[in-house]
Amino acid sequence: MGDKEEQKALWQDKLLARKIATALADWFCKNGRLLPWRETTDPYKIWLSEIILQQTRIDQGTAYYFDFLKAFPTIESLAQASEEEVLRLWQGLGYYTRARNLHKAAQKIVQEEGGVFPSSFEKIRALPGVGDYTAGAIASFAFGLSYPAVDGNLQRVLSRLYASCEPIDTAAGKRLYLHLAHQIIREGDASVLNQALMDIGATVCTPRLPLCNSCPLEPFCKVANLPQAVDFPIKKRKVPLKDLYFFFFYLVDGEGKIAIEKRKKKDIWQGLYQLPLIESETPLKQKELREKVEQMWGAEVAEHVEGKVLRARHILSHRRLHLTFYRSSITTLFDDSKTPWCEYRLISAEDLEQFPLPAAIFKYLPSFLEE
Ligand code: SF4
Repeated sequence: MGDKEEQKALWQDKLLARKIATALADWFCKNGRLLPWRETTDPYKIWLSEIILQQTRIDQGTAYYFDFLKAFPTIESLAQASEEEVLRLWQGLGYYTRARNLHKAAQKIVQEEGGVFPSSFEKIRALPGVGDYTAGAIASFAFGLSYPAVDGNLQRVLSRLYASCEPIDTAAGKRLYLHLAHQIIREGDASVLNQALMDIGATVCTPRLPLCNSCPLEPFCKVANLPQAVDFPIKKRKVPLKDLYFFFFYLVDGEGKIAIEKRKKKDIWQGLYQLPLIESETPLKQKELREKVEQMWGAEVAEHVEGKVLRARHILSHRRLHLTFYRSSITTLFDDSKTPWCEYRLISAEDLEQFPLPAAIFKYLPSFLEE
């Protein structure tokens, strides 16, 4: 392409981006969703909402947003809380690394910024748990900076709008969708345009049923009203789920107290409490399970591995957990010097809900106990 043609193409791109931005802003004025964190420019509240809403539905996340603000109204109060308090409040949202990072980021802001939320994209992006999307959202919503906030919803809208066959899960694809979003949002108010694109992704250009007739992008969209729209975005690979087999033991002593363990491994559920657990990457036969129990907690517990059992399947982002719950009795608590990855304690069963537990336990344990 010669210089002139290149300039012409750039100009046409800019013109198209401006028209799209105008249509988005008009649409947002009338159709934007009313959400509590949109009624503020306080970066702490916006950050909190963005972290809570990653992988969480808005209706579920809203209650957590208010609970967190009530418990920790300021960055300082969040920074001063114990990790256990933060995890306890987070319980039910899953992806606990988000909660730990939230806590670490609050401490970093207090230590390095005197408790004042940073106002540059680079400093926001450097906070633990903040990626390009979240940094773009905070920078644009709280500070009006012209940064795109591109998540899966936005990639879907953009890939359809431009009928782009660039896979969204490659470095080149990520760069392209970031560039396309940037082209649009720099043509107007970044906060409004990011939110408009998000709302269209969430409510209009949905994965299986794009509502092109209600979409402000219809005049510009290369796949509007075509059946092929649902073929976008393109993905290069699907990561297969890894199967893990978790055998939990509800162990009760002579006084009715139950054993729990704090998970110290730096992997899923770090810092959370769980029922004593045998983990395996393959299914275990009863005999193999008994041997493992004996190795871990001694012959007395192994003897009692029977009785009531509950089986359930629980899906995490990259793992499929096959859960089995057993109930048994113990006379003494185990010696945790042999298991440095966890810390045992005996508690009364009613106190269990005071401890941060993974969803895989608090979701299935009640039905196991009720049976
Ligand atoms: Fe999605 Fe249809 Fe809008 Fe295109 S016109 S962005 S396919 S809803």
